Amino acid sequence: MRRMYRRLFAVAAVLAASSLPFSAQERIDSSINSRIRTEESQHSEIMHTLHYLTDVYGPRLTGSPNHKAAAEWAVKQMTEWGFANGHLEPWDFGHPGWSNEHLEVHMTAPVHDALVVEALAWTPGTNGTITVPAFNLVPPEGPEVESGATPGGRGPAHLGPTRTELQAYLDGVAEKVHGRAVLVGKPIFVPVNLDPPAGRMTDEAAHCRFDAEAANDPACRNQGRGRGSGAGAARADHPSDRLSTRDVSKAIDQFLVSNKALLRINDAGRPNGQIVAFSNATYDPAQTVPTIVMRNEDYGRIARILADGTPVTLEANIVNRMYPEGKTSYNAIAEIPGTDKKDEVVMLGGHLDSWHSATGATDNAIGCAVMMEAARILKAAGVTPRRTIRVALWSGEEEGLLGSLAYVKQHFGTAEAPTSEFAKFNGYLNVDSGTGRVRGASVFGPDDDARILREALASFKDLKFEGVIPTRSRATGGTDSTSFNNAGLPGIGFGQDPIEYGSHTHHTNLDTYERIIENDVRDSAVVIAATLYQLAMQDAMLPRFSATDMPPPVAPR
Ligand SMILES: [Zn+2]
Repeated sequence: MRRMYRRLFAVAAVLAASSLPFSAQERIDSSINSRIRTEESQHSEIMHTLHYLTDVYGPRLTGSPNHKAAAEWAVKQMTEWGFANGHLEPWDFGHPGWSNEHLEVHMTAPVHDALVVEALAWTPGTNGTITVPAFNLVPPEGPEVESGATPGGRGPAHLGPTRTELQAYLDGVAEKVHGRAVLVGKPIFVPVNLDPPAGRMTDEAAHCRFDAEAANDPACRNQGRGRGSGAGAARADHPSDRLSTRDVSKAIDQFLVSNKALLRINDAGRPNGQIVAFSNATYDPAQTVPTIVMRNEDYGRIARILADGTPVTLEANIVNRMYPEGKTSYNAIAEIPGTDKKDEVVMLGGHLDSWHSATGATDNAIGCAVMMEAARILKAAGVTPRRTIRVALWSGEEEGLLGSLAYVKQHFGTAEAPTSEFAKFNGYLNVDSGTGRVRGASVFGPDDDARILREALASFKDLKFEGVIPTRSRATGGTDSTSFNNAGLPGIGFGQDPIEYGSHTHHTNLDTYERIIENDVRDSAVVIAATLYQLAMQDAMLPRFSATDMPPPVAPR
């Protein structure tokens, strides 16, 4: 009944709009979508932007000089395109910057070989070359979990040891770690994968995820739109006397520091030489020994040789550097000023910061390049936006959406405690899932928001854009649009073809320029430029939840 009412209302609204005076409607140019397509097909800057953000300024770890240089370059580039008000906006990261400046690790006995490794961020260097015996520390894992294996071939899941069990084990090996390189954990068995990764979303899957009617489509019943992964539920069951993987790792860090180990080695646990290296969670190098993540193949080889009873000697030279000035980090901002509604704002962006073991092309230099491009297309096509268009390239995303949360808090506040800018904000568009073309989007707000965007983008079916669905979730999640949702503002997150994101590039040492599909990202820029145009030009801003409909606030995670 309610749904039908809304449909009738929509028809009535269209009829009403067609009877508005000509001046109120002439701002929407019906040829705009073809002009956007022409500009991108003839003058794309997107791969040039990507080259600078990755090859020249990558990696872009939050707080590092590279990140700041990349942000400065992006502002300079957008200023050259004719954007106004380009600047870096500081926020308090609270930790020094860090970068790895030299890294070589070899096995020197019983055979000589170079080893493939990455440094863990915010850990110390080795202070020169060290040549040390290796030891494989295998902490107790606790009882097996009944409900099956952990993902990625890591064998059966375990509940973790109690603190007493872990301490008893560590006491027994204290002398064996002194002055050594310590491989932490038994090698992870990664089975050969005979199932090719998803690559493209099928049309059926895109329909189930982004079509407004899919909720009632029996064929979509197992495609799980909007449902959580269930990981939270598993965590809630964790017995309180058992240590989590993170707790065990932290205890081992303290143990290795106090027993003067010289190097910690973690198993990357992924196939084909892939390494994901995150950070020391304390951001304090004094809390850990020099730490590297080693490719699974090298880790397994060393562990197997040690298990034979044959000593292994490793040589390592790691130079890491701290940058105290990194305690202040920056979001990069530039605008295309609006005209008759210039105090109202449409934002678009992605995070410019990356992890440090590659140049962060799919995560997320390409998202920044696509958003810069979408705004550039409108500028180059001669659009004079009614509302101000503002590009924001965030930092601190990888450490917990920190840059965008700080920005939203400072500029907009929340639905419960708004600033004066809150009411003047129309929407924020975000891309952050790799190189795949955009296939759909979700928007925080009442169902009408999704309908308005869906209608605006209906002519992009040829580019495989399926639709827009509403979300009511204010939980912060995988990317910066959720910082806006969290405040009760219309965050618009695009969903993309997976391509190699989950299987190869997301957070890995393989995330480079070569992994970008130019046709896909150019099509994404076209669809997003068209969305941006509508949000900047339509008479009304996106409807918001009323105070009574607004979902309750959720603390940022
Ligand atoms: Zn990302």
